[in-house]
Amino acid sequence: MTIIDGKALSAKIKERVKKDCEELIAKGIKPTLAVILVGEDKASQTYVASKEKACIAAGMGSVMHRLGEQTTQNELLSLIEVLNKDDSIHGILVQLPLPKHLDTNEVLRRIDPNKDVDGFHALNVGKLNSGLDGFVPCTPLGIMEIFKEYNIDLVGKNALVIGRSNIVGKPMAALLLNAGATVTIAHSKTKNLAQISRSMDIIVVAIGKPKFLSADMVGEGAIIIDVGINRLDDGSLCGDADFEAIKDKCSFITPVPGGVGPMTIAMLLSNTIKSAKNELRA
Ligand code: NAD
Repeated sequence: MTIIDGKALSAKIKERVKKDCEELIAKGIKPTLAVILVGEDKASQTYVASKEKACIAAGMGSVMHRLGEQTTQNELLSLIEVLNKDDSIHGILVQLPLPKHLDTNEVLRRIDPNKDVDGFHALNVGKLNSGLDGFVPCTPLGIMEIFKEYNIDLVGKNALVIGRSNIVGKPMAALLLNAGATVTIAHSKTKNLAQISRSMDIIVVAIGKPKFLSADMVGEGAIIIDVGINRLDDGSLCGDADFEAIKDKCSFITPVPGGVGPMTIAMLLSNTIKSAKNELRA
């Protein structure tokens, strides 16, 4: 059994990003990410702060826009429009969730797809589903890097994705399909999940339920990718898989923390570099 080291792999990717960044700066382009945070959500503030820190550590530019809870849809869209037109900005990220009075779909639709480093714009979603090059959401993209790093061949494998969110489950399923796996998507309405999951070569679980994936749901030698980040009452973090109960049955497993989590920010930096390189080619 191999415990996947997402922290080490993310450090490796961040080193690659740093090198690419230096090369771009030498050519007159400073890859820069603009992040918009609306409101006071504590978790979002933490995420945004770590994205800013990671950008700076990689030598990239970081522009933060912290907007008040009462920001109107028009004010937010106007800021996006300004950033869309600003040639010094290569990536635009609107931290989700937005306060309830704002229309998330409309906001995501207004980000220039060429700067959509989160990969949530419908054009990039369509490109992913058509197997075309575009921006891919960072968490599933990070998981594909894990498969590559650990030489996990996906061709012909039976892969199960548990969770169908636009951020993780759906793009993950598209990536696995594009890579030649036979993909099943399960969600809250799926019946007999344990029966399905037991026969799978690969299980990606992304539902937000602590220790949901139990030993009787996993077959011998399965590869388990645990996306879940759940905070328990004692303050500790745990994933959607029951790590201790299933680890000895698996061939590979990602721990929480230290598995998929660190990959997400690394891929956000990598997507911003990709956008800056596109500018160089334009
Ligand atoms: P979400 O709430 O948008 O979606 C949850 C999905 O799980 C839904 O599709 C739902 O149908 C499914 N689901 C819920 N209960 C289920 C059940 N009993 N059986 C089968 N499916 C069920 O969540 P999300 O944004 O995709 O995030 C999922 C988890 O991943 C959360 O814990 C989140 O914190 C974590 N996450 C981690 C990262 C990272 O960087 N590691 C990134 C994004 C999300």
